[in-house]
Amino acid sequence: MIQVTIHRGTHTIGGSCIEIRSGDSRIILDFGMPLMEKDGGEINEEKLLHPSIENGILPNVEGLYKDQQPTIDAVIISHAHIDHYGLLNYLNPSIPVYLSRGSHALIKVGRIFYPEKNKISFDNYRIFEHWKPFEIGPFKIFSYLMDHSGYDASAFLIETENKEIFYSGDFRGHGRKSKVLDRLVRNPVQDVDCLLMEGTTLGGDHSVGFDSEEDVEKGLCRIFSEQKDVSFIMASGSNVDRIVSINKAAVDSKKTLVLDLYTYYILDQLKNITSSLTPHRRDNIRVFYIKTHAQSMVDSLGKDSLYKYTDRKIGIDEIVNRRDQMVLKLPVSAMYRISDALLKDRPLDKAKFIFSMWPGYLDKNDSFHKFCNKYKIELIKIHTSGHAYLKDLERLVAALKPKTLIPVHTLSGDDFSKHFENVIRIDDGVPFDL
Ligand SMILES: [Zn+2]
Ligand SMILES: [Zn+2]
Repeated sequence: MIQVTIHRGTHTIGGSCIEIRSGDSRIILDFGMPLMEKDGGEINEEKLLHPSIENGILPNVEGLYKDQQPTIDAVIISHAHIDHYGLLNYLNPSIPVYLSRGSHALIKVGRIFYPEKNKISFDNYRIFEHWKPFEIGPFKIFSYLMDHSGYDASAFLIETENKEIFYSGDFRGHGRKSKVLDRLVRNPVQDVDCLLMEGTTLGGDHSVGFDSEEDVEKGLCRIFSEQKDVSFIMASGSNVDRIVSINKAAVDSKKTLVLDLYTYYILDQLKNITSSLTPHRRDNIRVFYIKTHAQSMVDSLGKDSLYKYTDRKIGIDEIVNRRDQMVLKLPVSAMYRISDALLKDRPLDKAKFIFSMWPGYLDKNDSFHKFCNKYKIELIKIHTSGHAYLKDLERLVAALKPKTLIPVHTLSGDDFSKHFENVIRIDDGVPFDL
């Protein structure tokens, strides 16, 4: 008999951890840091610094942790978002971690640049290839490359005891890799016994008026083309799709894109995996050296690492001199420094501040509005979700025709049955027999 236990994620977004058991063999899909309390409320930061089974941050999985006899066969990570891999520091080191090449590269970058509490280390890992099955004990596992705001994300098909379980991971169908979802639904595994599917966007207001990454690119291009002064843009450096959209818009509007050292380093590392990825020789990208980023690189990689990008380096003087050409994707602290220099030349009332992230962060963190207010800069939201909207959730379900559908990574699991058949609701930590 197969048992599926969602240790976290039946009623919350983030901190996913799913156990699949066949006989004495057990694998864990994702081992993420929670983003919210069990009731959806704000999480206590102090608890995150000292995770334990008692305080509810570590899921209660026997045989997973350093102080336990290891009885889990493997942990398989769907993608390099902290809510899917952020607890790996607590994993018993004899348990191997399986992940994609891109996920591994991004976690390694985090080890250089993230603050100490967010650095995740593990030595016992295996890289899997997409679309090439691999085996762990009685489980045959197949990774599908998925379209998501996390680079090189996977969904997994797990076969064991003649049954099939499909775990969607986090995905969407409106990003820069929408073709991979098209391919999956065109030629699907059918009648899977169990589909564990994310439902992040259900119930919430995840739309900001841009339906797809393509629309985001067009929206950005329109603003950059008409800009009379600098465009500041706030986006996640690890959201590679978005950085590519920003760059394409900058190229089409003949602007110079200035990236901070961290963001440029990510692109440089991922180019080893996807050679067609930005940057290219003699392109429009320049690098602004942020002191803390530079220090992180020196500490981890040595001083010479800083010289690698000096031909792309740009300073404040050049930004001021060519201000109407500039698209600046930098931390807010650098935006202040640059704005002070620009202000000496002329006011910034024609500049734009584009917020290209989940708009909820604007309420959680007032530093963006503060910055705009100080320099009288207009704030514009241009974003699309990293997660599938209902239309693409429906496409996946229609293709896989699951015999049971279990909601995961959602605050609106109860809404699944409004849209889908065969929905089963379970609670965190309660095994489901398949
Ligand atoms: Zn997630
Ligand atoms: Zn994600």
